[in-house]
Amino acid sequence: MAGARALGFKGCLKIGGSQIRNLLNAKDFFLFDCDGVIWHGEEAITGAPKVVSSLIKHGKNVFFVTNNCTRPRKNYVNKFYRLGFTGVMQEQIFSSSYCSALYLRDVAKVQGKVFVIGGEGVRNELLQAGISFVGDEDAPDGTIFNCALASDVKAVLVGHDDKFTFLKLAKASCYLRDPECLFLATDVDPWHPLQDGRILPGSGCLTAALEVATGRKAMVIGKPSPFMFECISSQFRVDPAQCLMVGDRLETDMLFGANCGLDTMLTLTGISQMKTAQEYRDSDHSTNQSFVPDYVVDTIADFLPAFED
Ligand SMILES: [Mg+2]
Repeated sequence: MAGARALGFKGCLKIGGSQIRNLLNAKDFFLFDCDGVIWHGEEAITGAPKVVSSLIKHGKNVFFVTNNCTRPRKNYVNKFYRLGFTGVMQEQIFSSSYCSALYLRDVAKVQGKVFVIGGEGVRNELLQAGISFVGDEDAPDGTIFNCALASDVKAVLVGHDDKFTFLKLAKASCYLRDPECLFLATDVDPWHPLQDGRILPGSGCLTAALEVATGRKAMVIGKPSPFMFECISSQFRVDPAQCLMVGDRLETDMLFGANCGLDTMLTLTGISQMKTAQEYRDSDHSTNQSFVPDYVVDTIADFLPAFED
């Protein structure tokens, strides 16, 4: 168990005060996950709006990388303002739905239609990217025995869909019988916390259902895949060594940072707790080291004293 530390890996370093100040001085690019880091649903984390505006005021580059595909980026801009964040622009927001649209347009250069399992966020971003799509046209009593199948579907994109149906699953399975048809997932988040102990199943469940039905594996756009970072660095001059990835989920945010060669910070206002991070750090499985954050803070509000002179 001493393995990781004996090899000199840093991990789970709880920092405060001057250590945070030094880290903020050393980094030029700050990538924040959203839920559990800067807000909980419709409530900003105390101090988070000031942290973001202070970073921007000090000339830092701030980006938001979220697996939440349910809203288009323009709605995110509204949400930032609604929750008291000022100065956040659409160009700073990289959601899994936006990046999925970029992938289909710029990487896959898809010719034909995309069959969508997903909501407004996914559809709107596809529309903005000029990609034609199908997905919600069936009558309520439609079945896989009598529904129409489009002839030119070249990709299936799966995201969070609270109107997911057996018929959508069945149609997507039919399209994916064509090995040339791309199989893409916005993200594979398993679930999201709600209030009073309830949870919301995430996109990952829907993707898993389709993977079982087709025997195929989806290509994943969202964290921990590095593609969202590639989207950022294709639009901005970003040096990974100058980046800090701040998130609340070890298996997505910290792994994403590790996959992209970024320093990582876990904030304890969300899903993952210190104990789990330490268990990964102390584990004998070397793959678990990618889940270990370099730094840990209780909340990003701990940044605030660093901005005071
Ligand atoms: Mg989160």
